[in-house]
Amino acid sequence: MTHKLILSFYGGVRSVTGSNFHIAGPTKKILVDCGLFQGGTFCDDVNREDFAYDPSTIALLIVTHAHIDHIGRIPKLYRDGFRGKIVSTLATKELAEPMLLDCLAVLEREEKRTGKSPLFSKEDIRSALSLWEGIPYHEKKPFDGDFTFSLRDAGHILGSAMVDIVGNGKHLLFTGDLGNSPSPLIKDAEIIHDATYLVMDSVYGDRQHEDVSRRKEILEDIIEETVRRGGALVIPAFSLERTQILIYEINDLVEHGKIPHVPVFVDSPLATHVTAVYRKHLAEFNDDVQEMLRSGDDIFSFPKLQFTKDSEESRAIAHIPNPKIIIAGGGMSHGGRVIEHEKRHLPDPKSTVLMVGYQAAGSIGRQLQEGAKKVNFHGEEVSVRATIRTIGGYSGHRDSKGLLEFVQGTADTLRKVFVVAGEERSALFLAQRIRDYVGVDAVSPEPNIAYELEF
Ligand SMILES: [Zn+2]
Repeated sequence: MTHKLILSFYGGVRSVTGSNFHIAGPTKKILVDCGLFQGGTFCDDVNREDFAYDPSTIALLIVTHAHIDHIGRIPKLYRDGFRGKIVSTLATKELAEPMLLDCLAVLEREEKRTGKSPLFSKEDIRSALSLWEGIPYHEKKPFDGDFTFSLRDAGHILGSAMVDIVGNGKHLLFTGDLGNSPSPLIKDAEIIHDATYLVMDSVYGDRQHEDVSRRKEILEDIIEETVRRGGALVIPAFSLERTQILIYEINDLVEHGKIPHVPVFVDSPLATHVTAVYRKHLAEFNDDVQEMLRSGDDIFSFPKLQFTKDSEESRAIAHIPNPKIIIAGGGMSHGGRVIEHEKRHLPDPKSTVLMVGYQAAGSIGRQLQEGAKKVNFHGEEVSVRATIRTIGGYSGHRDSKGLLEFVQGTADTLRKVFVVAGEERSALFLAQRIRDYVGVDAVSPEPNIAYELEF
Protein backbone atom coordinates (compact mmCIF):
# COMPACT_ATOMS: atom_id res chain seq x y z
CA MET A 1 0.00 0.00 0.00
CA THR A 2 1.39 3.40 -0.94
CA HIS A 3 1.64 5.92 1.84
CA LYS A 4 0.73 9.01 -0.02
CA LEU A 5 -2.22 11.40 -0.07
CA ILE A 6 -2.95 14.04 -2.68
CA LEU A 7 -4.43 17.15 -1.10
CA SER A 8 -6.26 19.75 -3.21
CA PHE A 9 -7.85 23.02 -2.18
CA TYR A 10 -11.22 23.80 -3.80
CA GLY A 11 -12.47 26.50 -1.45
CA GLY A 12 -11.50 28.35 1.68
CA VAL A 13 -8.17 29.40 0.20
CA ARG A 14 -7.35 33.08 -0.21
CA SER A 15 -10.85 33.63 1.23
CA VAL A 16 -12.46 32.95 4.61
CA THR A 17 -15.47 31.09 3.30
CA GLY A 18 -16.31 28.12 1.08
CA SER A 19 -14.04 25.60 2.85
CA ASN A 20 -13.66 22.52 0.65
CA PHE A 21 -10.61 20.27 0.74
CA HIS A 22 -10.20 17.17 -1.41
CA ILE A 23 -7.99 14.24 -0.51
CA ALA A 24 -7.19 11.43 -2.92
CA GLY A 25 -6.08 8.39 -0.92
CA PRO A 26 -4.74 5.05 -2.18
CA THR A 27 -8.23 3.94 -3.30
CA LYS A 28 -10.77 6.59 -2.27
CA LYS A 29 -11.60 10.25 -2.70
CA ILE A 30 -12.56 12.12 0.45
CA LEU A 31 -13.59 15.67 1.31
CA VAL A 32 -13.15 17.76 4.41
CA ASP A 33 -15.94 20.37 4.64
CA CYS A 34 -18.16 21.66 1.84
CA GLY A 35 -19.00 25.23 2.73
CA LEU A 36 -20.80 28.12 1.13
CA PHE A 37 -18.78 30.99 -0.36
CA GLN A 38 -19.99 34.17 1.33
CA GLY A 39 -18.85 37.76 1.19
CA GLY A 40 -20.76 40.86 0.22
CA THR A 41 -23.78 38.61 -0.26
CA PHE A 42 -25.05 35.62 1.72
CA CYS A 43 -24.47 33.36 -1.26
CA ASP A 44 -21.75 34.29 -3.74
CA ASP A 45 -22.42 33.41 -7.40
CA VAL A 46 -19.43 31.05 -7.42
CA ASN A 47 -21.54 28.59 -5.35
CA ARG A 48 -23.63 27.93 -8.46
CA GLU A 49 -20.67 26.65 -10.45
CA ASP A 50 -20.04 22.92 -10.80
CA PHE A 51 -17.69 21.31 -8.31
CA ALA A 52 -14.15 20.93 -9.68
CA TYR A 53 -14.47 17.15 -9.14
CA ASP A 54 -17.26 14.66 -9.75
CA PRO A 55 -19.30 14.50 -6.49
CA SER A 56 -20.40 10.92 -7.30
CA THR A 57 -16.78 9.77 -6.92
CA ILE A 58 -16.50 10.98 -3.29
CA ALA A 59 -16.70 8.17 -0.72
CA LEU A 60 -16.61 10.21 2.47
CA LEU A 61 -17.14 13.78 3.62
CA ILE A 62 -15.79 14.73 7.06
CA VAL A 63 -17.25 17.90 8.54
CA THR A 64 -15.37 20.09 11.05
CA HIS A 65 -18.33 22.14 12.32
CA ALA A 66 -21.81 23.42 11.52
CA HIS A 67 -21.10 26.96 10.30
CA ILE A 68 -22.53 27.58 6.85
CA ASP A 69 -19.13 28.42 5.33
CA HIS A 70 -18.18 24.81 6.19
CA ILE A 71 -21.45 22.94 5.42
CA GLY A 72 -23.52 25.19 3.13
CA ARG A 73 -22.83 23.37 -0.15
CA ILE A 74 -23.44 19.84 1.22
CA PRO A 75 -27.04 19.69 -0.13
CA LYS A 76 -25.71 20.86 -3.51
CA LEU A 77 -23.05 18.15 -3.32
CA TYR A 78 -25.89 15.64 -2.86
CA ARG A 79 -27.90 17.21 -5.69
CA ASP A 80 -24.84 16.92 -7.95
CA GLY A 81 -24.44 13.18 -7.31
CA PHE A 82 -22.69 12.62 -3.96
CA ARG A 83 -23.95 9.42 -2.26
CA GLY A 84 -21.03 8.74 0.10
CA LYS A 85 -20.97 8.92 3.88
CA ILE A 86 -20.88 12.11 5.97
CA VAL A 87 -19.20 12.05 9.39
CA SER A 88 -18.94 14.69 12.12
CA THR A 89 -19.53 14.95 15.86
CA LEU A 90 -23.13 14.30 16.92
CA ALA A 91 -23.62 17.96 17.95
CA THR A 92 -22.45 19.12 14.51
CA LYS A 93 -24.89 16.75 12.84
CA GLU A 94 -27.77 18.00 15.01
CA LEU A 95 -26.83 21.64 14.43
CA ALA A 96 -26.48 21.11 10.69
CA GLU A 97 -30.21 20.54 10.24
CA PRO A 98 -31.48 23.92 11.54
CA MET A 99 -28.46 25.66 9.98
CA LEU A 100 -29.11 24.22 6.51
CA LEU A 101 -32.87 24.81 6.69
CA ASP A 102 -32.23 28.43 7.64
CA CYS A 103 -29.65 28.72 4.85
CA LEU A 104 -32.29 27.45 2.40
CA ALA A 105 -34.80 30.05 3.63
CA VAL A 106 -32.27 32.85 3.08
CA LEU A 107 -31.32 31.43 -0.34
CA GLU A 108 -34.98 31.25 -1.38
CA ARG A 109 -35.50 34.91 -0.50
CA GLU A 110 -32.32 35.84 -2.40
CA GLU A 111 -33.36 33.71 -5.39
CA LYS A 112 -36.81 35.31 -5.43
CA ARG A 113 -35.26 38.78 -5.46
CA THR A 114 -32.66 38.02 -8.13
CA GLY A 115 -34.42 35.39 -10.26
CA LYS A 116 -31.54 32.93 -9.82
CA SER A 117 -32.23 29.19 -9.91
CA PRO A 118 -32.35 27.25 -6.60
CA LEU A 119 -28.98 26.06 -5.30
CA PHE A 120 -30.67 23.10 -3.56
CA SER A 121 -34.00 22.01 -2.11
CA LYS A 122 -35.34 20.87 1.25
CA GLU A 123 -35.32 17.33 -0.13
CA ASP A 124 -31.57 17.64 -0.85
CA ILE A 125 -31.03 18.65 2.81
CA ARG A 126 -33.09 15.67 4.07
CA SER A 127 -31.23 13.28 1.78
CA ALA A 128 -27.82 14.60 2.82
CA LEU A 129 -28.76 14.30 6.51
CA SER A 130 -29.75 10.66 5.94
CA LEU A 131 -26.13 9.91 4.95
CA TRP A 132 -24.77 11.63 8.07
CA GLU A 133 -23.27 9.83 11.09
CA GLY A 134 -22.39 11.53 14.39
CA ILE A 135 -19.34 10.14 16.22
CA PRO A 136 -17.61 11.06 19.53
CA TYR A 137 -14.29 12.91 19.68
CA HIS A 138 -11.25 10.56 19.52
CA GLU A 139 -13.10 7.56 18.07
CA LYS A 140 -10.82 6.07 15.42
CA LYS A 141 -12.55 5.44 12.07
CA PRO A 142 -11.29 3.94 8.80
CA PHE A 143 -10.22 6.51 6.22
CA ASP A 144 -8.68 4.68 3.29
CA GLY A 145 -6.33 1.69 3.16
CA ASP A 146 -4.07 1.84 6.24
CA PHE A 147 -5.16 5.41 6.97
CA THR A 148 -7.54 6.17 9.85
CA PHE A 149 -9.08 9.39 11.13
CA SER A 150 -10.52 10.81 14.32
CA LEU A 151 -11.97 14.10 15.51
CA ARG A 152 -10.34 16.34 18.13
CA ASP A 153 -12.01 19.22 19.98
CA ALA A 154 -11.39 22.54 18.19
CA GLY A 155 -13.07 24.69 20.89
CA HIS A 156 -14.67 26.95 18.25
CA ILE A 157 -18.41 26.23 18.62
CA LEU A 158 -20.44 23.38 20.08
CA GLY A 159 -19.38 20.17 18.31
CA SER A 160 -16.47 21.75 16.45
CA ALA A 161 -13.65 19.40 15.56
CA MET A 162 -10.22 19.17 14.05
CA VAL A 163 -9.85 16.27 11.64
CA ASP A 164 -6.78 14.12 12.31
CA ILE A 165 -5.87 11.74 9.48
CA VAL A 166 -3.21 9.21 10.44
CA GLY A 167 -1.12 6.94 8.27
CA ASN A 168 2.23 5.25 8.93
CA GLY A 169 2.54 7.16 12.24
CA LYS A 170 2.21 10.55 10.55
CA HIS A 171 -0.64 13.01 10.95
CA LEU A 172 -2.43 15.30 8.52
CA LEU A 173 -4.45 17.66 10.72
CA PHE A 174 -7.20 20.02 9.55
CA THR A 175 -7.84 22.56 12.30
CA GLY A 176 -11.19 23.71 10.91
CA ASP A 177 -11.84 27.00 12.69
CA LEU A 178 -9.74 27.13 15.85
CA GLY A 179 -11.51 28.41 18.95
CA ASN A 180 -10.46 31.52 20.83
CA SER A 181 -10.10 29.48 24.06
CA PRO A 182 -11.05 29.96 26.82
CA SER A 183 -14.66 30.27 25.68
CA PRO A 184 -17.28 31.32 28.23
CA LEU A 185 -19.26 28.19 27.32
CA ILE A 186 -17.41 25.30 25.73
CA LYS A 187 -14.21 23.43 26.51
CA ASP A 188 -10.81 24.59 25.29
CA ALA A 189 -9.38 23.52 21.96
CA GLU A 190 -7.03 20.56 22.30
CA ILE A 191 -3.32 21.27 22.12
CA ILE A 192 -1.63 19.34 19.33
CA HIS A 193 1.91 17.95 19.51
CA ASP A 194 2.00 15.40 16.72
CA ALA A 195 0.98 17.04 13.42
CA THR A 196 3.15 16.30 10.38
CA TYR A 197 1.06 18.35 7.97
CA LEU A 198 -1.23 21.09 9.13
CA VAL A 199 -4.11 22.71 7.23
CA MET A 200 -4.89 25.66 9.40
CA ASP A 201 -7.36 28.48 9.87
CA SER A 202 -6.17 32.08 9.39
CA VAL A 203 -9.35 34.17 9.71
CA TYR A 204 -7.51 36.44 12.15
CA GLY A 205 -4.04 35.58 10.82
CA ASP A 206 -2.96 39.24 10.78
CA ARG A 207 -4.90 40.64 13.73
CA GLN A 208 -4.90 40.54 17.53
CA HIS A 209 -8.02 40.43 19.68
CA GLU A 210 -8.36 42.54 22.76
CA ASP A 211 -7.77 40.71 26.01
CA VAL A 212 -10.34 37.94 26.51
CA SER A 213 -10.42 38.61 30.27
CA ARG A 214 -11.94 42.09 29.73
CA ARG A 215 -14.75 41.08 27.36
CA LYS A 216 -17.45 40.76 29.97
CA GLU A 217 -16.53 44.11 31.59
CA ILE A 218 -16.72 45.82 28.20
CA LEU A 219 -20.11 44.23 27.52
CA GLU A 220 -21.31 45.44 30.92
CA ASP A 221 -20.07 48.99 30.17
CA ILE A 222 -21.75 49.08 26.75
CA ILE A 223 -25.06 47.89 28.21
CA GLU A 224 -24.87 50.47 31.02
CA GLU A 225 -23.98 53.35 28.66
CA THR A 226 -26.81 52.52 26.25
CA VAL A 227 -29.34 52.12 29.06
CA ARG A 228 -28.21 55.48 30.55
CA ARG A 229 -28.76 57.20 27.19
CA GLY A 230 -32.17 55.56 26.93
CA GLY A 231 -31.34 53.84 23.64
CA ALA A 232 -31.58 50.35 22.25
CA LEU A 233 -28.59 48.03 22.13
CA VAL A 234 -28.74 46.06 18.89
CA ILE A 235 -26.36 43.11 18.64
CA PRO A 236 -26.19 41.44 15.22
CA ALA A 237 -25.14 37.96 16.25
CA PHE A 238 -24.58 34.68 14.56
CA SER A 239 -27.37 32.43 15.77
CA LEU A 240 -24.95 29.60 16.41
CA GLU A 241 -22.68 29.96 19.47
CA ARG A 242 -22.35 33.78 19.56
CA THR A 243 -26.01 34.15 20.59
CA GLN A 244 -25.80 31.40 23.22
CA ILE A 245 -22.62 32.99 24.63
CA LEU A 246 -24.34 36.39 24.85
CA ILE A 247 -27.37 34.90 26.60
CA TYR A 248 -25.04 33.11 29.02
CA GLU A 249 -23.01 36.30 29.73
CA ILE A 250 -26.07 38.55 30.12
CA ASN A 251 -27.68 35.87 32.35
CA ASP A 252 -24.60 36.10 34.56
CA LEU A 253 -24.58 39.95 34.61
CA VAL A 254 -28.32 40.02 35.44
CA GLU A 255 -28.06 37.41 38.19
CA HIS A 256 -25.14 39.24 39.83
CA GLY A 257 -27.05 42.54 39.70
CA LYS A 258 -24.40 44.14 37.48
CA ILE A 259 -26.72 45.57 34.83
CA PRO A 260 -30.17 47.13 35.10
CA HIS A 261 -33.16 44.87 34.40
CA VAL A 262 -34.13 45.76 30.85
CA PRO A 263 -36.00 43.62 28.34
CA VAL A 264 -33.69 41.34 26.31
CA PHE A 265 -34.97 39.91 23.02
CA VAL A 266 -33.44 37.07 21.09
CA ASP A 267 -34.94 37.71 17.68
CA SER A 268 -33.90 34.76 15.56
CA PRO A 269 -35.93 31.62 14.92
CA LEU A 270 -32.64 29.90 14.10
CA ALA A 271 -31.09 30.90 17.45
CA THR A 272 -34.12 29.41 19.19
CA HIS A 273 -33.65 26.08 17.36
CA VAL A 274 -29.90 26.11 17.94
CA THR A 275 -30.31 26.89 21.66
CA ALA A 276 -32.55 23.79 21.90
CA VAL A 277 -29.66 21.69 20.50
CA TYR A 278 -27.28 23.31 23.02
CA ARG A 279 -29.60 22.23 25.84
CA LYS A 280 -29.14 18.59 24.67
CA HIS A 281 -25.33 18.79 24.89
CA LEU A 282 -24.74 20.39 28.30
CA ALA A 283 -22.00 17.82 29.05
CA GLU A 284 -19.82 19.45 26.39
CA PHE A 285 -19.62 22.74 28.27
CA ASN A 286 -16.61 23.77 30.35
CA ASP A 287 -16.12 23.30 34.11
CA ASP A 288 -17.43 26.76 35.07
CA VAL A 289 -20.67 26.12 33.23
CA GLN A 290 -20.94 22.62 34.72
CA GLU A 291 -20.74 24.17 38.17
CA MET A 292 -23.52 26.67 37.38
CA LEU A 293 -25.66 23.87 35.98
CA ARG A 294 -25.11 21.81 39.14
CA SER A 295 -26.22 24.79 41.25
CA GLY A 296 -29.52 24.65 39.38
CA ASP A 297 -29.04 27.72 37.18
CA ASP A 298 -30.75 27.60 33.81
CA ILE A 299 -27.94 29.29 31.86
CA PHE A 300 -30.16 30.16 28.88
CA SER A 301 -32.98 31.80 30.84
CA PHE A 302 -33.47 34.86 33.08
CA PRO A 303 -36.29 37.31 33.85
CA LYS A 304 -37.14 39.64 30.94
CA LEU A 305 -35.40 37.39 28.39
CA GLN A 306 -37.72 36.61 25.51
CA PHE A 307 -37.17 34.43 22.44
CA THR A 308 -39.44 35.82 19.73
CA LYS A 309 -41.47 33.12 18.02
CA ASP A 310 -42.71 34.66 14.80
CA SER A 311 -42.42 37.78 12.69
CA GLU A 312 -45.39 39.34 14.51
CA GLU A 313 -43.52 39.12 17.82
CA SER A 314 -40.42 40.43 16.05
CA ARG A 315 -42.28 43.52 14.80
CA ALA A 316 -43.79 44.02 18.28
CA ILE A 317 -40.27 44.66 19.69
CA ALA A 318 -40.42 48.11 18.05
CA HIS A 319 -43.30 49.05 20.37
CA ILE A 320 -41.43 48.13 23.55
CA PRO A 321 -39.98 51.39 24.88
CA ASN A 322 -36.21 51.83 25.19
CA PRO A 323 -33.95 50.94 26.88
CA LYS A 324 -33.81 47.38 25.62
CA ILE A 325 -31.36 44.84 24.24
CA ILE A 326 -32.01 43.09 20.93
CA ILE A 327 -29.83 40.15 19.91
CA ALA A 328 -30.88 39.44 16.35
CA GLY A 329 -29.92 36.95 13.68
CA GLY A 330 -27.73 37.97 10.77
CA GLY A 331 -24.23 38.25 12.22
CA MET A 332 -22.81 40.38 9.39
CA SER A 333 -26.01 42.36 8.82
CA HIS A 334 -26.54 41.10 5.25
CA GLY A 335 -29.64 39.11 6.09
CA GLY A 336 -31.83 38.07 8.96
CA ARG A 337 -34.05 39.96 11.35
CA VAL A 338 -31.28 42.27 12.49
CA ILE A 339 -31.78 44.37 9.35
CA GLU A 340 -35.15 45.76 10.50
CA HIS A 341 -33.74 46.59 13.93
CA GLU A 342 -30.69 48.27 12.40
CA LYS A 343 -32.84 50.31 10.02
CA ARG A 344 -34.81 51.55 13.04
CA HIS A 345 -31.94 52.18 15.45
CA LEU A 346 -28.89 53.12 13.33
CA PRO A 347 -30.21 56.71 12.82
CA ASP A 348 -30.76 57.09 16.60
CA PRO A 349 -27.81 58.71 18.44
CA LYS A 350 -28.98 57.19 21.74
CA SER A 351 -28.69 53.62 20.44
CA THR A 352 -25.71 51.33 20.03
CA VAL A 353 -24.96 48.64 17.48
CA LEU A 354 -22.48 46.16 18.90
CA MET A 355 -20.46 43.75 16.77
CA VAL A 356 -19.24 40.59 18.49
CA GLY A 357 -18.27 38.37 15.56
CA TYR A 358 -16.27 38.32 12.37
CA GLN A 359 -17.39 40.84 9.72
CA ALA A 360 -16.39 39.87 6.18
CA ALA A 361 -14.90 42.43 3.83
CA GLY A 362 -17.76 44.22 2.05
CA SER A 363 -20.43 43.27 4.58
CA ILE A 364 -22.59 45.97 6.16
CA GLY A 365 -21.13 45.02 9.54
CA ARG A 366 -17.61 45.74 8.24
CA GLN A 367 -18.79 49.05 6.71
CA LEU A 368 -20.19 50.07 10.11
CA GLN A 369 -16.93 49.09 11.83
CA GLU A 370 -15.03 51.20 9.29
CA GLY A 371 -17.09 54.27 10.23
CA ALA A 372 -19.60 54.43 7.34
CA LYS A 373 -22.01 57.37 7.77
CA LYS A 374 -24.60 55.72 5.54
CA VAL A 375 -25.30 52.07 4.73
CA ASN A 376 -27.50 50.52 2.11
CA PHE A 377 -29.89 47.65 2.94
CA HIS A 378 -31.03 46.16 -0.37
CA GLY A 379 -31.46 49.61 -1.94
CA GLU A 380 -32.66 51.41 1.18
CA GLU A 381 -30.17 53.99 2.41
CA VAL A 382 -29.95 54.42 6.19
CA SER A 383 -27.92 57.09 7.97
CA VAL A 384 -25.69 56.04 10.86
CA ARG A 385 -25.87 58.16 14.02
CA ALA A 386 -25.87 55.35 16.58
CA THR A 387 -22.69 54.43 18.45
CA ILE A 388 -20.90 51.53 16.76
CA ARG A 389 -18.90 49.25 19.06
CA THR A 390 -17.00 46.00 18.63
CA ILE A 391 -15.93 43.48 21.25
CA GLY A 392 -13.19 41.31 19.75
CA GLY A 393 -12.88 39.12 22.85
CA TYR A 394 -16.05 37.21 21.95
CA SER A 395 -14.64 36.17 18.63
CA GLY A 396 -14.87 32.43 18.11
CA HIS A 397 -11.59 32.55 16.23
CA ARG A 398 -8.06 32.47 17.58
CA ASP A 399 -6.03 35.62 16.81
CA SER A 400 -2.66 35.86 15.08
CA LYS A 401 -0.62 35.25 18.23
CA GLY A 402 -2.84 32.34 19.30
CA LEU A 403 -2.59 30.72 15.87
CA LEU A 404 1.20 30.99 15.90
CA GLU A 405 1.33 29.46 19.41
CA PHE A 406 -0.80 26.58 18.17
CA VAL A 407 1.75 25.88 15.39
CA GLN A 408 4.67 26.25 17.82
CA GLY A 409 3.07 23.55 19.99
CA THR A 410 3.68 20.98 17.27
CA ALA A 411 6.81 22.49 15.68
CA ASP A 412 8.95 19.42 16.46
CA THR A 413 6.90 17.10 14.26
CA LEU A 414 5.82 19.54 11.52
CA ARG A 415 6.87 19.29 7.88
CA LYS A 416 4.52 21.72 6.21
CA VAL A 417 1.68 24.10 7.01
CA PHE A 418 -1.09 25.05 4.59
CA VAL A 419 -2.64 28.31 5.70
CA VAL A 420 -6.31 28.49 4.67
CA ALA A 421 -9.68 30.10 5.51
CA GLY A 422 -8.40 33.66 5.70
CA GLU A 423 -8.53 36.67 3.42
CA GLU A 424 -5.42 36.75 1.22
CA ARG A 425 -3.53 39.34 3.29
CA SER A 426 -4.25 37.50 6.51
CA ALA A 427 -3.23 34.07 5.15
CA LEU A 428 0.00 35.39 3.59
CA PHE A 429 0.90 37.25 6.78
CA LEU A 430 0.39 34.16 8.95
CA ALA A 431 2.33 31.93 6.53
CA GLN A 432 5.24 34.40 6.70
CA ARG A 433 5.11 34.48 10.51
CA ILE A 434 5.15 30.67 10.65
CA ARG A 435 8.21 30.56 8.37
CA ASP A 436 9.98 33.28 10.39
CA TYR A 437 9.12 32.27 13.94
CA VAL A 438 8.63 28.50 13.75
CA GLY A 439 11.04 27.82 10.89
CA VAL A 440 8.64 25.48 9.12
CA ASP A 441 7.62 25.55 5.46
CA ALA A 442 4.27 27.36 5.29
CA VAL A 443 2.24 28.24 2.22
CA SER A 444 -1.06 29.92 1.48
CA PRO A 445 -2.22 27.64 -1.34
CA GLU A 446 -4.02 28.97 -4.39
CA PRO A 447 -7.34 27.40 -5.38
CA ASN A 448 -7.32 24.13 -7.37
CA ILE A 449 -3.66 23.37 -6.63
CA ALA A 450 -2.76 19.80 -5.58
CA TYR A 451 0.01 18.79 -3.17
CA GLU A 452 1.45 15.31 -2.75
CA LEU A 453 1.97 14.40 0.91
CA GLU A 454 4.35 11.57 1.86
CA PHE A 455 3.45 9.41 4.87
ZN1 LIG B 1 -16.69 28.56 12.05
